[in-house]
Amino acid sequence: MRLHIKFSHRIVRNPIISQVVLATKAPINILRARIDHNGGEMLLEVPDEFCKEVKKEFERYGVEVQEVKSVVEHNTDLCVDCGLCVSICPTSAFSFDTDFKLKLHEDRCVQCGLCVTSCPHGALSLVTI
Ligand code: SF4
Ligand code: SF4
Repeated sequence: MRLHIKFSHRIVRNPIISQVVLATKAPINILRARIDHNGGEMLLEVPDEFCKEVKKEFERYGVEVQEVKSVVEHNTDLCVDCGLCVSICPTSAFSFDTDFKLKLHEDRCVQCGLCVTSCPHGALSLVTI
């Protein structure tokens, strides 16, 4: 499962990720991170069986946690299968099938948004469920 965490500037210097990993023994994978003097946010991948405990542990440190399903919505009516998103995606979340139709591998997406802003036909959008 993917968790989106958000923390304020007050706790930005604390080694929260390490503390949560040590406390829960969860193999947390950081997919995306943005941290500055105002605080930060991260998109994490956490095995389902650890999610409840990891969430509880983060909240104990004052971190906001939201379960997310990151999805890129692909509008096949607008898409012309030009392949721009295939070359731009940093995680190879797009490929072409045998009919040269665009195929999305959602499990590889890290919600960076690059494809959304790059698609010349507005065929992609980020959806958070
Ligand atoms: S960039 Fe847009 S139009 Fe081109 S293949 Fe990707 S989704 Fe389709
Ligand atoms: S949002 Fe980023 S990671 Fe996800 S499919 Fe688009 S370019 Fe790839």
